[in-house]
Amino acid sequence: MFGPTIQGEGPSAGRPAVFVRLGACNLACAWCDTAYTWDGDRYDLSRELQIRSTGDVAREVLALRPSLVVLTGGEPALQSREAARLARAITDGGSAIELETSGTVPLGALANAVRLVVTSPKLSSSAVLDRARLRWGVLAEIAALPHAVFKFVVQSPTDLREADEIVARLGLSPGRVWLMPEATHAAALADGLRALAPHAVSRGWSLSSRLQVAVWGDERGR
Ligand code: SF4
Repeated sequence: MFGPTIQGEGPSAGRPAVFVRLGACNLACAWCDTAYTWDGDRYDLSRELQIRSTGDVAREVLALRPSLVVLTGGEPALQSREAARLARAITDGGSAIELETSGTVPLGALANAVRLVVTSPKLSSSAVLDRARLRWGVLAEIAALPHAVFKFVVQSPTDLREADEIVARLGLSPGRVWLMPEATHAAALADGLRALAPHAVSRGWSLSSRLQVAVWGDERGR
């Protein structure tokens, strides 16, 4: 858990928020900036991760009286049942909660336990095998949720073409789509935003910055 800080990305960018980052991921994206949640080769996961009860986590989060809680990972849907219980406890406690997911694991009860599902399908630049990163059945289920939006991390023209294909195949309206550059420092972020802006404008999609990178660079826990 970390915060209060700001949500740096997507539809809620700029809002004050507390983050709950869940451990474990089913993918291994080349540019992952939270590999300490899943990569036991590079990190000591016995030190990085803690096993906590949902009640404990909810109490600790709600004590901060956040208006927004972001449930992220890793891949939170790998712990769907527990994450749904946590999300409901946080909602009952008076805070809004949104989920960040790669859209590769069925959301189950988690789908309707949050007020917003921000899905980031992984594109070619992630270097993850297509069949692992594009689970069309899961993506279609998420696309059918009225409170789901899609945020594409774009690093190359190939990524952008793929984003177009995914949006077309899922029948997403422009208002549900965000483009965001891959970047871990402010200069690269500015370059990426400049490169992506015309593409977002021409498609009627939203452009997302990464405010946490602009303000804090790649500092962890921001
Ligand atoms: S899905 Fe997210 S947490 Fe998992 S490897 Fe990719 S970027 Fe990292």
